[in-house]
Amino acid sequence: MAHIISGKEIASSVRAQIAEKGRLFTERTGVVPGLAVVIVGEDPASKVYVRNKKKGCEEVGFYSEVHELPEDITQERLMSELESINKNPKIHGILVQLPLPRHLDEKAVIDFIPPEKDVDAFHPVNTGKIMIGNYDFLPCTPAGVMKMLEYENIDVTGKNCVVIGRSNIVGKPMAMLLLHSNGTVTICHSKTKNLADITSKADILVSSVGKAKFVTADMVKEGAVVIDVGMNRDENGKLCGDVAFDEVAEKASAITPVPGGVGVMTITMLLQNTLKAAEIAVK
Ligand code: NAP
Repeated sequence: MAHIISGKEIASSVRAQIAEKGRLFTERTGVVPGLAVVIVGEDPASKVYVRNKKKGCEEVGFYSEVHELPEDITQERLMSELESINKNPKIHGILVQLPLPRHLDEKAVIDFIPPEKDVDAFHPVNTGKIMIGNYDFLPCTPAGVMKMLEYENIDVTGKNCVVIGRSNIVGKPMAMLLLHSNGTVTICHSKTKNLADITSKADILVSSVGKAKFVTADMVKEGAVVIDVGMNRDENGKLCGDVAFDEVAEKASAITPVPGGVGVMTITMLLQNTLKAAEIAVK
């Protein structure tokens, strides 16, 4: 049976470090790190994520504001809200919860957030910096995965790493971070042929597909480390990842559960990025 990598345990230890660093930062500068989260519309999953982000800020002693905007807001009105948030000296990090309703231009919103306040690291300047390995912010989910590997003393150097999924938010930056850590990285997607042949050679397998029970035991190498980024609902409406947990846990050496795995790490890394944004602001 695989060792279960507890996101909860790691997040709690990392959050304690962030809280302490934040406390020292405020003592030195008089500035409390501040995060603004903008949510448009009533999507229940997005509302839960936003609530957890606010709770996370409270836990580490950061200031936070949640801006709840109506579903039918115009692009112009949204941009003017962002402009006023951007002028607020208490706010160092700005995050717009995605996806936005379809009538809004997501790209314009991402481009508007100044790179030095872009705690999600979605701005083209920040994604470019990740590519060259010289970054201030890392996207929270891949950064959370790297933190988990580090905490578990899992050395990536020379390992065969396979990432399933190539989104800008998870798959691509995940692959880049594994590469920066000297892994030999393969990215798979919906057009990949012979997926199981590729995944079953992975020493470290990261799944970010968004399909319940997608990764089965026959796709996994004996002794592999399996990281499950997926957040799905099973046939009973229960939260689950991409990985058929019970059967894969029999074969892997270590595995992340869902819930209690990557998800809690994502918010933890957002708190780290908020502190970083405050540090940049007072430089
Ligand atoms: P996404 O944009 O929908 O990307 C899914 C990726 O999976 C795509 O690259 C797609 O390939 C690939 N894919 C789909 N079907 C496949 C198949 N049959 N074989 C191989 N690859 C396949 O999703 P995302 O935003 O990256 O999120 C992925 C999952 O992670 C979701 O469940 C999401 O909820 C979860 N998530 C969790 C966290 C967290 O904090 N734990 C954070 C973010 C996301 P193509 O590019 O070819 O279409």
